[in-house]
Amino acid sequence: MLKTGAVSAIGILLVLVFSPQLSLAEDEKHDVIVVGAGIAGLGAANELQSRGYDVIILEAKDRVGGRLYTDSSLDGIPLDRGASWIHGVIGNPITGLAEKYGAENVPVNDDSVTLYHNGAKMDGSSERLEKAGLLFNEFLDDVEEKRENISRAAKDGAPPDYALQVAVDEFISDKGLTGQILTDFLYNVSWCLEADYAADTEDLSFLHYDEVGYKLEGDENVFPGGYGQIIQGLAGDLGEDKIYKKHAVTKIEYGNSGVKVYTNQSKTFEGKYVISTLPLGVLRNGDVEFSPKLTDAKLEAINHLKLANFEKIFFKFPKVFWDDAVWLSRISNEK
Ligand SMILES: Cc1cc2nc3c(=O)[nH]c(=O)nc-3n(C[C@H](O)[C@H](O)[C@H](O)COP(=O)(O)OP(=O)(O)OC[C@H]3O[C@@H](n4cnc5c(N)ncnc54)[C@H](O)[C@@H]3O)c2cc1C
Repeated sequence: MLKTGAVSAIGILLVLVFSPQLSLAEDEKHDVIVVGAGIAGLGAANELQSRGYDVIILEAKDRVGGRLYTDSSLDGIPLDRGASWIHGVIGNPITGLAEKYGAENVPVNDDSVTLYHNGAKMDGSSERLEKAGLLFNEFLDDVEEKRENISRAAKDGAPPDYALQVAVDEFISDKGLTGQILTDFLYNVSWCLEADYAADTEDLSFLHYDEVGYKLEGDENVFPGGYGQIIQGLAGDLGEDKIYKKHAVTKIEYGNSGVKVYTNQSKTFEGKYVISTLPLGVLRNGDVEFSPKLTDAKLEAINHLKLANFEKIFFKFPKVFWDDAVWLSRISNEK
């Protein structure tokens, strides 16, 4: 089980309009064409439809939801292969949708953990774990203090940034951490930072790693019946006939009086507007051609953002060997 990042992230949302010189042939026409039926595309399409717009979604896969995907193929148990968490239920639009679609969601007790090390179960309330937790908090305070000092020293200029790993190395060296306490410290770095931000500390910014802005107030809840309930609700409200699955967009032409969207199917789609919710990876790969090309500022932003892999693997064990704990975790001797 992993902790995760990014709430119902709208990702990169580009609203573009059509070029006047393009021909309006007998292709399908709509007010708005949304590209991608993830939570961003479904959310945008529903909002527009509720305001009276004729909107459709073009989706490359044969299913909706994108990175929000509940898979029930393992004994019918709803497993969230993508997002699971509402990161703070207060003021979160997902909370309202959960209520609307009757999707039960419950808080997760982060303190309920069964830990293993070197093949043996550890006592969850042991002095060892408490010490490791305090040390990790000390590290976070240390980072905070250093960041304040750097910002103060830089005055009005941009403070110099570097990898969070540098701070990790400095802390280890300053404290003279070795052996078991070092292992425990690195476990916390991995669990609380790298798992949460889906990146190695070598790739995380010392100054900005925690400025993700996705965590809201309140409990962090999960859906026992799967996050997919929200997707099914949104897709149902929009109308399945408005979602064109297996329509991978290949090209988007845009200008002052409309858009024309090409897919891997023979039909093309014309509209007044297009909303692209294409994931960053697709944009970085240049899988979809934009005509005219996206502005330099947009391309620069796209190319400056890095994308990390974040996978969940589900195991089925013949019997329950763990305590009645929420988390089952293992301290590794190596990263
Ligand atoms: C393992 C994992 C765990 C996560 N855990 C959490 C969590 O607990 N809580 C949380 O808030 N967030 C979590 N996230 C992040 C969250 O899942 C995403 O931020 C969110 O689902 C992104 O939604 P989206 O609609 O912007 O993009 P996507 O869900 O990626 O939707 C984009 C859609 O566009 C489609 N598409 C791509 N190319 C084309 C094309 N050429 N033509 C047409 N369609 C195309 C894709 O098939 C996809 O359906 C997690 C992500 C992962 C991977």
